[in-house]
This record gives sequence, structure tokens and C-alpha cells, in this order.
Amino acid sequence: MRRHAVFALLICLPVLASCAIVPWFKRTPQQTPMQEATAKPATASVTAKRAQVLMGTMVEITAVAPNEILAQAALSAGFREIRRLEALLSTWIKTSELSMVNQAAGQEPVGVSEETFALLKRALEVADYTEGGFNIAIGPAVRLWNIPEAPHIPSDMELEIAAQYVDYHNIHLNPTRRTVLLEKPGMKIDVGGIGKGFAAEKAAAVMREVGATGGLVAVSGDFRVFGKRADGTAWPIGIRHPRRDGAILATLDSTDEAVSTSGDYERFFIKGGIRFHHILDPETLKPARLCQSVTVVAPDATWADALATGLFVMGPVKGMVLIERLGFGAVIVDAQGGVSISSRLHNRVRMVP
Ligand code: AMP
Ligand code: MG
Repeated sequence: MRRHAVFALLICLPVLASCAIVPWFKRTPQQTPMQEATAKPATASVTAKRAQVLMGTMVEITAVAPNEILAQAALSAGFREIRRLEALLSTWIKTSELSMVNQAAGQEPVGVSEETFALLKRALEVADYTEGGFNIAIGPAVRLWNIPEAPHIPSDMELEIAAQYVDYHNIHLNPTRRTVLLEKPGMKIDVGGIGKGFAAEKAAAVMREVGATGGLVAVSGDFRVFGKRADGTAWPIGIRHPRRDGAILATLDSTDEAVSTSGDYERFFIKGGIRFHHILDPETLKPARLCQSVTVVAPDATWADALATGLFVMGPVKGMVLIERLGFGAVIVDAQGGVSISSRLHNRVRMVP
């Protein structure tokens, strides 16, 4: 009988430890068994992590919560939310709202959900802020280059034709009816430059609702963090070195904000010694040439994601002026590898030697 009890205790201990319940040997003499069962130490928290491929990329979520059940529930809620948004926004899914909008280009307005409408509205705002550098009407040109699936350098003639369909002013949002109309047949919305940040933002929100006190949602290079880690410290975020594979350029500690990076190392091919990558300059419909990478730090991940892509096109000078005007943060690596850091990040970013 006693042997059974000891065995059961041995099995239970790791589970108790993982639930961050105060171990039995730390019981204070004053605590009654009932107090002990209900008392939760102020600092008790558990960390749970999971990774999954969604939105065509690796999504990694970390949740911090008062116990294991809540931490797992927060992870599940975060992934469920990203899956839900993917079904609305992916242009790989034929039945998604965005696919419906693209299919009806030049024909009729399409009714969409609040989320899709809000995302498109934000995208058009960022387009104006970035003087058209960020442009979700870029779809036809993205298709033409098809990087990295079946890379192809389009001819001038092909680019000229595509240029007729990439004006974002021809995307019409009707807030009363919550509809979207693409004015010309052949137009295609591509939310590749904003959708991951949007998904990270929404996932973080549902995780908080479920009871997570802290978390990190990483959708490829788009991070959204909230609260603290289980040990009470901020989340360390690494900014990738754009030219040294696997190396970190700089780090910063983050709480309750978004950090998004756009880089020419993400999806690219090299031909004749020239790097052709996935961020296109809407003026030329060719890969933007002024930066190697842009990291934006902002209170909201949708802004951070879209601005990182938009700044990449605008380049380091105009991009930094915009970030300072908005009061956000940026780390920009220019085409020669020179690094500039916005005023708000001077004291926060640590360069890795
Ligand atoms: P990101 O990694 O967030 O910078 O997004 C890059 C993706 O956004 C590309 O793979 C395209 O799908 C899309 N894209 C390319 N160029 C632009 C642009 N100038 N504005 C908005 N989206 C773009
Ligand atoms: Mg982006």
C-alpha cells in the first residue's frame, strides 16, 4: 500500500511542477489544507509553446498563463484564430473572401466580413502613408514574378500590361454595405505584406481573452508580444542579419508591441549575380532596391507588418522620416548594409558584434 502511494506521488510531482503549484515541501506552517489547495502564488505561471505551418509559413506561439490548462487553451485559441483568418484571406483558398473579391474584379462589389474589411481599410491607409510604396493591388505583378515557386524575369511588355492593374485607388471600399469592388478586370489584391501581422495581432487578442498573461505570436518575421515571460522578464527578439545566414544583426527586449521585419533574403532567386526578391516597387514592378531589410516596431502588428513592407520600398531616408513622424521605431539596413536606427529605438536596440 505504502509503495503504491510513493509511486503515485512520484508520478504526480512532475505534473504538479509543470502546473507551477507550490511544491508540498514549501508549505508554510500557517496554511490549512484548504488554503493550500486554493492559494496561488502571485508569481505562478506556466509557459507552453507550439509550432504549426499556417498561412504558408511557420507559426510559433508561446503562451504564459497561471496554469497548464489555461496556457494550452491560449495556444489552441491562437492557432484557431489564425486558421480562421487564413480561410478568409488566403488567395490560395479558392473559396476565401479575398479570392471571391479577386474573381469579381471588374464586375461587382463583394460583401465581406468585418475582419476582411478592416484589414483592407488599414492597407489602403498605409498605402497613402507610404506614398504608394505599400500597395495591396500589386497582385498581378506578384503573379508574374512568381517568386520563389517558378521564378521568371518578366519582359518589359509583360510589366507594362501588369502596370494597368496595380493602382490601389481602383480598390473601392463601401463601409455602409461592407463591400469591396476592384474596378478593372485583371486586378488582384495580395495581402502577403500585411496579413501575417494582422493574424498575429488577432491571435494575441484571443489569447489574452482566454487568460494568457503573456505571449509571443511569431508568424514568420512578424512578431506580436504581450505581457511578460514566466520569469517576469521582457521577450527578447532577434533581428536577422540580412546577409549572414542564421546570424542575428541586433536584439531588443519587447513587451506589448509588434516587431515586423521585411527582407530581400526571404523569398528570392539569384540570376546573373543579381538578387531578385519578393518585395516589388509598385513604380517599376521590379524588386525594390533601396534596402536589404526593414524592421518596424509599433503598438499594433498590422501596422508593423504593412509599414515594414512599405518602408522597404520607400528606402532608408524617406522611410525613417515617416517612422519618426508616426512615432514608431525602425531598424533599416540599406542596400550597402549600412544600419540606421530610429530615435525611439536608440536605447533599446543592441547590435550583435
Ligand atoms: P513582407 O514579407 O511582409 O514584406 O511581404 C512581402 C509580400 O507582400 C510579398 O511576398 C508579396 O506577396 C507582397 N508584396 C510585394 N510587394 C509589395 C508591395 N510593394 N506592397 C505590398 N505588398 C507587397
Ligand atoms: Mg509586411
